[in-house]
Amino acid sequence: MPQSADNVLDHAPLFREPEYKEMLAAKKALFECGVGDEKIAEQTEYAKSWEYREKNLSREALVVNPAKACQPLGAVFASAGFEKTMSFVHGSQGCVAYYRSHLSRHFKEPCSAVSSSMTEDAAVFGGLNNMVDGLANTYSLYAPKMVAVSTTCMAEVIGDDLQSFIQTAKDKGSVPQEFDVPFAHTPAFVGSHVDGYDNMVKGILENFWKDKERSEGASINIIPGFDGYCVGNNRELKRLLDMMGVDYTILGDASDQFDTPSDGEFRMYDGGTKLEDVAAGLNAKATLSLQHWNTRKTLEYVAEKGQETASFHYPMGIRATDELLMKVSALSGKAIPEAIRMERGRLVDAMADSQAYLHGKKYAVYGDPDFVHAMARFILETGGEPIHCLATNGSKAWEEEMKAMLETSPFGKNCHVWAGKDLWHMRSLLFTEKVDLLIGNSYGKYLERDTGTPLLRMTFPVFDRHHHHRFPLWGYQGGLRVLTAMLDKFFDIYDDDTIIPGETDYSYDLTR
Ligand code: SF4
Repeated sequence: MPQSADNVLDHAPLFREPEYKEMLAAKKALFECGVGDEKIAEQTEYAKSWEYREKNLSREALVVNPAKACQPLGAVFASAGFEKTMSFVHGSQGCVAYYRSHLSRHFKEPCSAVSSSMTEDAAVFGGLNNMVDGLANTYSLYAPKMVAVSTTCMAEVIGDDLQSFIQTAKDKGSVPQEFDVPFAHTPAFVGSHVDGYDNMVKGILENFWKDKERSEGASINIIPGFDGYCVGNNRELKRLLDMMGVDYTILGDASDQFDTPSDGEFRMYDGGTKLEDVAAGLNAKATLSLQHWNTRKTLEYVAEKGQETASFHYPMGIRATDELLMKVSALSGKAIPEAIRMERGRLVDAMADSQAYLHGKKYAVYGDPDFVHAMARFILETGGEPIHCLATNGSKAWEEEMKAMLETSPFGKNCHVWAGKDLWHMRSLLFTEKVDLLIGNSYGKYLERDTGTPLLRMTFPVFDRHHHHRFPLWGYQGGLRVLTAMLDKFFDIYDDDTIIPGETDYSYDLTR
């Protein structure tokens, strides 16, 4: 036996020991009825071809490795941004186990949410009793200040009416009549998690703003959007706005909720936008969305209430940050201070210092529509080419907008935009039109394995690296971090490529 108490082998080295290799080979030969190594090699080669790519891109019904999640995940994330708010997903409980584990694995933090645990009988008779009992239990067990209700697809298919169910639950005394229970229908079969975010934020605003008269003040509302980097990003955003002296409210700030300290006390709730600030947000001068494709319905609603609105695409890099800060400055009447101007200049300086290593580099980028937009734009700023820009949850309108953005730079001329495509499509693209770097999330590691394209993890979810979300990608500081991460990856590649003594190490330079 290879195991010994002094040197315990876990699964990675253990199954490479001779007896395990022998056992697995015998199992394969005797019982697996495989097609044979030659056939597998032939098929693997074929999957790299242009012919296979054409077949792959013409898929109509089958989706393989989509880079998106379902609406309620976005609703659970959105609810986490509000003070002492419990997310209540009306429907089947397996969904909630998945949302919680998905968010926990990314943030390495607890994620609280409850389910009304509908089962087969509720599918026939409706989930009213589940709502009545579920709200009562949630209210008494977890002492929330607000319960934000969304739906799983089962509740949507049977057509449960949230508004009347919640009212009935209040009438039956599950929660006090005046207790805040905003709700949003979040059908998993429409859009993606970013639409669930949009619906939930809109539901929360409606809860506080409906039938209220507005008297315009000077403050600005900011909606960050679904963002796996909210911890670092929201803190960076607040730092910049505080430096400018702007009066603002972030509508949905999960930066503390997903970053509580380990000091002997578990905090079910931490931070978040105060409910009275959400209510007061009706009187803001304007509402800005930092992720356009996450907030279309919400901004429509805000505009109906009489506020000025504007939206951005994830403020990362020089021009995207410039645009956000200039808009904030114009709305608030506050100048952009010298200290922020210096930060900008330092990012420009860093980009100039490293330009030789980034010019002409080719990239593939995937993720949510706003992230892909921002990342591609920043790549253009560094003189790189975002050859493949893919968003499974990107629409035709997003595709058009992306193309227009790419046309603004000569580096965008050979680039393609892939709306509605998945990571199996991306696999074919990487085999047939090679790039230097793939930028995406942890699911990209399988593309790295299959195609040999190095992966940079820059967007949700990041399951197999720790704590990236604690550092910002937004603003000039965030841009510096993205720039450094890209450069580190390229320098590691240069070093790996030149490390063999007497063979390639004539280029193994000390100074790069
Ligand atoms: S797709 Fe439907 S069943 Fe699956 S997690 Fe989403 S809501 Fe639940």
